[in-house]
Amino acid sequence: AIKIDKVNKWYGTHHVLKDISLDILEGEIMVVCGPSGSGKSTLIRSLNHLEDYQDGVVSVFGQPLSRDRKSHDVIHNAMGMVFQNFNLFPHLTVLQNCTLGLTWLRKMSERDADKMAMQLLDRVGIAALASRYPGQLSGGQQQRVAISRSLAMEPKIMLFDEPTSALDPEMVKEVLDVMVDLSKTGMTMVCVTHEMEFARQVADRVVFMADGEIVEVGPPEQVLVNPEWDRTSEFLRHVL
Ligand code: ATP
Ligand code: MG
Repeated sequence: AIKIDKVNKWYGTHHVLKDISLDILEGEIMVVCGPSGSGKSTLIRSLNHLEDYQDGVVSVFGQPLSRDRKSHDVIHNAMGMVFQNFNLFPHLTVLQNCTLGLTWLRKMSERDADKMAMQLLDRVGIAALASRYPGQLSGGQQQRVAISRSLAMEPKIMLFDEPTSALDPEMVKEVLDVMVDLSKTGMTMVCVTHEMEFARQVADRVVFMADGEIVEVGPPEQVLVNPEWDRTSEFLRHVL
């Protein structure tokens, strides 16, 4: 689904992505972990061009992405993204947050958009909160709205950048449960997360990054249980 080919990025003289190559297969659940500053967010944001890079190519469903209109359409039709801080519109209700893309970008009628959004909110267990504003919700509920909003655009690929790390511990599970459910639908998922239990449970492969490089990639039982590299084992001692 995604082919990352020798991507390099610098911030000034700081080399933050070093020759990253990785193929993410259709339907694959990829978990990306690694220490703070290792380049995880930069990498995942490069996949949908929220971040520019100086060298290399990212292709999505065979389409090499650049700054042109066609790439823009591929990204918007195929990819959804969920961030650490939810990024909901505070002045719109939960329902309106979810229907905005459908009515504006997809030109769907308000009635159809409401119907679709309500189904998605129901799926993540918060249909009853549809008329509230984001400020009236817990963090876990807000993140589930953010996931519903992304899913409304019917992406083939979902990118998650530490979706649970801003949440109080008791809310982490309700968001992870939604992600586990999603992983069973054939969705291709790239998840930056330090939730190693989630990784163990659903990841097809785990990528470990350090200093802008992919240090290790493989099935969770290999990377998490028998890492080949000292840096991986050291990191795992911190998060487990
Ligand atoms: P964290 O776990 O803290 O989220 P990360 O692995 O996601 O870390 P990135 O945010 O991708 O790391 O950052 C990678 C490196 O790039 C870091 O050294 C960071 O300081 C640097 N960096 C990120 N954004 C910028 C920027 N806008 N300008 C300059 N340097 C940046
Ligand atoms: Mg980050």
